[in-house]
Amino acid sequence: MAPNQHGTESSDVDAYDAPVVKPDLKMPRDYPNANPYDTKPGEKPYKLEIVWRNVLVFAYLHAACVYATYMPINWKEATFGFLYGFISSYGISAGAHRYWAHKCYKVTRPLYYILLFLQTTALQNCVIEWVRDHRVHHKYSDTNADPHNASRGFFFSHMGWLMCKKHPDVLKYGKRIDMSDLTSDPVLRFQKKYYAPLVLFCTFLLPIFICMYFFGSPFWKAYHWHILRYVITLHITWSINSVSHIWGSKPFEKDIKPTDTFAIGFMAFGEGWHNYHHVYPFDYKVSELPRYWCNFTIPFIDFFAWLGWAYDLKTVSDEMVRRRVLRTGDGSHRYSKEEQKKKTAKELVEAFNETYNEEEEERLKQNVARIRDHYWGWGDDDMLQEDINDIKTINRKSN
Ligand SMILES: [Zn+2]
Ligand SMILES: [Zn+2]
Repeated sequence: MAPNQHGTESSDVDAYDAPVVKPDLKMPRDYPNANPYDTKPGEKPYKLEIVWRNVLVFAYLHAACVYATYMPINWKEATFGFLYGFISSYGISAGAHRYWAHKCYKVTRPLYYILLFLQTTALQNCVIEWVRDHRVHHKYSDTNADPHNASRGFFFSHMGWLMCKKHPDVLKYGKRIDMSDLTSDPVLRFQKKYYAPLVLFCTFLLPIFICMYFFGSPFWKAYHWHILRYVITLHITWSINSVSHIWGSKPFEKDIKPTDTFAIGFMAFGEGWHNYHHVYPFDYKVSELPRYWCNFTIPFIDFFAWLGWAYDLKTVSDEMVRRRVLRTGDGSHRYSKEEQKKKTAKELVEAFNETYNEEEEERLKQNVARIRDHYWGWGDDDMLQEDINDIKTINRKSN
């Protein structure tokens, strides 16, 4: 996920906003390097450039958090701060991420505005820029085109990427991502244009005013505690880019960095089931685990689906998961374990002989090639037809 409220250079933004030309799929497509200092013929060597303004902003925010802990708060203030952080997280998980970036479901107008308000309260950049960073993250994960390339280590992928200029590959390959669905939306363009006053009001002025008016909190106390609330939500989001790309299991696809971890899955409203998510970015559950308590975003979307405000929810079939787990998983999934138990070495040889044929081998080769070229979500031209055929749509309203 990509909170990038401080890291984008204005020249990058202008270049991204140029008309999107869809890549010619017949042309051989190159792939970015993972090491920032590796260059391709004709490219200038990469030089790390720190953006000191952003370093100072983050240093100030963290110092303010420490200062906040010296000002005790009562249970009303604490409960309100927790709830405000809790609902703003839905703006990222259900809104920017599952709705706008991956198009996992559709919404009616009232829910659209609720998600937009919550997304603004989270202060993780406007929808258009958040989604642009996130789609390119999925398409070119853990390479130089990924804004928070985890191949550069924990700190860079966690928050270091926000404190330096973007690698030139982020811009180069980012232009290949289709953003026309969002850049053509006048409401999202309005949010982008007036982001500074909107975010100042939604993230700080509104909750601070509520604390002062209803709970009698002094301004400076409310101010510092809401900075603390904001910084906690930032670190939870950042952990998806760092922890969930470094440590954990890979039940669905062992040849990519994203992992599944319970701790991040729980804290980040289900977003830490990240190995699954990179394999099936269009699934509104972002996990095969339907349990609400380890994926708080599912009950939120399901509630609005029940209300009729969320529809065409895309998810994958159990059979599709099983096929993928057995083909590319690391063996930690229960399907892999079950299969392992069932098959003796002899049976494995027999099964291989029965299913092997040239056509199947060619199909598997093509799929392996695609591992390096993942989808950014529903609507990506690279989606496999067999995956599209197997998608389940819940609460279907359109064709
Ligand atoms: Zn990721
Ligand atoms: Zn995603």
